[in-house]
Amino acid sequence: MHKDSLKSRSIAIVGAGQAGLLLGCALLDRGYAVTIVTNRRPEEVWHGKVLSSQFIFDPALQIERDWGMNQWEAACPRTEGIGFTIPTPDGSGRQAIHWHARLDAYGQSVDQRVKMPGWMKEFVRRGGELRFEDVGVPQLEALAAAHELVLLAGGKGEIVNLLGRDEARSPIRQPMRQLALTYVTGMKRHDYYECVNFNLIPGVGEYFVFPALTTRGSDDTQACDIMVFEGVPGGPMDCWGEVKSPEQHLETSLRILRTFLPWEYERSRDCQLTDANGVLAGRITPTVRNAVLTLPSGRKVMGLGDAVLVNDPVTGQGSNNATKGALHYYRAILARGGAPFDEAWMRHTFDALYEGYAEKVVRWTNSLLFPPPEHVVQLLGAAQHAPGLAHRIANGFNDPRDYAEYWFDAAAAQRLIDDELRQAA
Ligand SMILES: Cc1cc2nc3c(=O)[nH]c(=O)nc-3n(C[C@H](O)[C@H](O)[C@H](O)COP(=O)(O)OP(=O)(O)OC[C@H]3O[C@@H](n4cnc5c(N)ncnc54)[C@H](O)[C@@H]3O)c2cc1C
Repeated sequence: MHKDSLKSRSIAIVGAGQAGLLLGCALLDRGYAVTIVTNRRPEEVWHGKVLSSQFIFDPALQIERDWGMNQWEAACPRTEGIGFTIPTPDGSGRQAIHWHARLDAYGQSVDQRVKMPGWMKEFVRRGGELRFEDVGVPQLEALAAAHELVLLAGGKGEIVNLLGRDEARSPIRQPMRQLALTYVTGMKRHDYYECVNFNLIPGVGEYFVFPALTTRGSDDTQACDIMVFEGVPGGPMDCWGEVKSPEQHLETSLRILRTFLPWEYERSRDCQLTDANGVLAGRITPTVRNAVLTLPSGRKVMGLGDAVLVNDPVTGQGSNNATKGALHYYRAILARGGAPFDEAWMRHTFDALYEGYAEKVVRWTNSLLFPPPEHVVQLLGAAQHAPGLAHRIANGFNDPRDYAEYWFDAAAAQRLIDDELRQAA
């Protein structure tokens, strides 16, 4: 497709996040006229609170590389594996299950406070029009009247609720975890490669921690570690409501580690917050929304990223989904050539993403929000003795469709365990 032939195709994107900025920059490179409207200026994002832990696995990192959007790849620490631990249920501070396995290629987490301001600059450098406005229905109407396609990539902003929940695809109706993030420096390293260290404490919740790149002052960056707490509602890790200051947030983080995960406490006891904004607490209801919003005028708007697919962060898939979704929409937009972006195209495009990919991510992520069935515990335990199994489970994070082969079916899980244990012997 020739770049100049598409100069007249104009696309508006609401939201300057992982999905909107990536897709916007990629489309600019193909000659589309792209406008992004967002409600936070770069300096507000940089100096604001952390938003996510945004760990991205290699297949999604590759999309960023392919589009020239990997500006921090050299500076950001590399995470080369997945570590998995379940403590013994007696509270004695011992590990019932522990293994770690290498990812086929490293993953990385660049704080969105660093990334989004940098990408906004890049978007403008590539010729995009960037506007700052809090978009509501009147602004959506104006955008839809002036552009051939409007994409709503407003993340967790109120506005995305206009898309409406897809009940059939959203089996969970309330938050299943109390979430908290703590960005720290000063963590002791393992004596093996860097991992996403995932700890599952039955009945209490999950804790995972990994290296990242964050802000330092007003224009510099620094390496850090991000602690992610996922507390079962009403349980001992659901305690962030009482926290009144960043210092208390760090103390609470360390208290949880000391109580439930002493090996993580040992690495973290001397940690300091990266900055007073390096903390967050909240709840998310996993939701799939309808792909298309019909405005009062009858014009259509299409959802993208978290606006249509919001998962609990327990599997760290949201930014990965947003990135893969951006690539899927990019290909569909290019393949559309000069034909209209009508409602049928919008629905077909989203359904193809959902059925071909996202559905399996949603199913696996939702499954981790309930107590694991016996065969999953068997799988995780057997991985200690079968490196091939540990490798397969770890690398499923790259593309969770692989879990559909064995995660939900006790007989398939047992066959895999038997095969892998035989090979390990
Ligand atoms: C605690 C936590 C931890 C997470 N950890 C991970 C992880 O480790 N790995 C992972 O892959 N994912 C993780 N996620 C999910 C990930 O952050 C999101 O899936 C991802 O940011 C979604 O990208 P997006 O572009 O759809 O939305 P966002 O990146 O949220 O961007 C939304 C944009 O829309 C703008 N906006 C909102 N409303 C309006 C409006 N009315 N008008 C104009 N602009 C508007 C916002 O300012 C923002 O620019 C985590 C999420 C949370 C909450």
